Amino acid sequence: PNLVNQIAAGEVIERPASVVKELVENSIDAGSHRIEVAIMGGGTESIRISDDGCGMTAEQLPLAVASHATSKLPDDESLFHVSTLGFRGEALASIGSVSQLTIRSRAEGETVGAEIVVRGGVVEPPAPCGCPTGTVIEIKNLFFNTPVRHRFLKTSQTERGHIVEAFTRLALANPQIHFVLTNNNKEIYDLPVTQQWSERIRAFFGGEIGDSLIKVADGSDDIRISGYVADPSVSRGNNRMQYLFLNGRHIRDRSLQHALGEAYRGLLMVGRFPVCFLRLDMPADLIDVNVHPTKLEVRFTDGGRVYGRLLQTLRHQFLKTDM
Ligand code: ADP
Ligand code: MG
Repeated sequence: PNLVNQIAAGEVIERPASVVKELVENSIDAGSHRIEVAIMGGGTESIRISDDGCGMTAEQLPLAVASHATSKLPDDESLFHVSTLGFRGEALASIGSVSQLTIRSRAEGETVGAEIVVRGGVVEPPAPCGCPTGTVIEIKNLFFNTPVRHRFLKTSQTERGHIVEAFTRLALANPQIHFVLTNNNKEIYDLPVTQQWSERIRAFFGGEIGDSLIKVADGSDDIRISGYVADPSVSRGNNRMQYLFLNGRHIRDRSLQHALGEAYRGLLMVGRFPVCFLRLDMPADLIDVNVHPTKLEVRFTDGGRVYGRLLQTLRHQFLKTDM
């Protein structure tokens, strides 16, 4: 069974940043108000995620690390009919199969917590431990038993950069959660809860970008578009500063990126890309089933309509240019 989990891990856990993404998503699903990500050596030495969510009981811990055991039950196959970020029950089993994983957790209403340790897929029985309500998960020796993955780990600086990016996406998508990120015990971000999305955006991208944000809000039909686009004067040489969130999940989508480019056509020089932070919210039946386990790519049932709506919203209302 560990080989099966290792193969699953190969799909989902590419590098330390994938661990951070999966674990933070679990903390979000657990209803946490505060999530702290503490990495050492850019995540190559250790990764610790602490949350104040619902926690797990001693009985739930072995299930949590077993493959295909999920407490989240979707009513159908579509990822976007699922209200939680996770639903496969694969992440913890995968991570535990390629690392040393320790979970300390106390469920709401319990007087003591419990700890469970998994080493290369070998699960030890849970033991009682003292801890506050919520969950602390620590990962060490990532990929110690998968030499190829281990060899492809980049420098701690590079892995740290990937973690910062994953953290940024999750924290941008969830301004209602207090997020903290440290590396080698040094604070990188401490982001208190905010009602203003622009405040969370500025915490990451203050200065030039933060000062040039143009508010976008359009809810004329069942596709709602909201957020900010930056003034054309702060464009970038690549499209990495285009943050798109679909029903609360970060996505990358070629077609929507193309629509953004079209919306700014005539406002930017060739080879320049607009900067934006946009949330799209729409009924789940407008979105097709997930096409990749890392959930980054989506398909729209009527891609042309979504494309048109984004283009029209930006062009007519906010960039005030003619088609
Ligand atoms: P999934 O998120 O797809 O259900 P995971 O392998 O990521 O699968 O997690 C397995 C289960 O462990 C979850 O369904 C949840 O019940 C439990 N779990 C994981 N992390 C946490 C957490 N931080 N707080 C509470 N429960 C958690
Ligand atoms: Mg999960």
